[in-house]
Amino acid sequence: MKIKILEDRCKGCGLCIEFCPKKILALSDKRNLLGYKIVCWKSPENCNHCGICYLMCPEVVFVEDGEIER
Ligand code: SF4
Ligand code: SF4
Repeated sequence: MKIKILEDRCKGCGLCIEFCPKKILALSDKRNLLGYKIVCWKSPENCNHCGICYLMCPEVVFVEDGEIER
């Protein structure tokens, strides 16, 4: 399974960063269309697909690659 980050939904709240057990998420310097710094992976190869970021994110930024974007 591949995870995709829908950057324009991110509000930079940091919840996913705080709760990722592998500590592989961070805020980048890049900003999205809303002006928020967006989350990114520091080392995606270390993701264990636990799903915590999916569950924590109030903006549903993380989706499985291939899922229909709305
Ligand atoms: S699936 Fe788990 S390990 Fe991977 S980025 Fe999300 S919280 Fe971190
Ligand atoms: S929890 Fe969602 S909105 Fe908050 S920083 Fe992470 S991806 Fe962005």
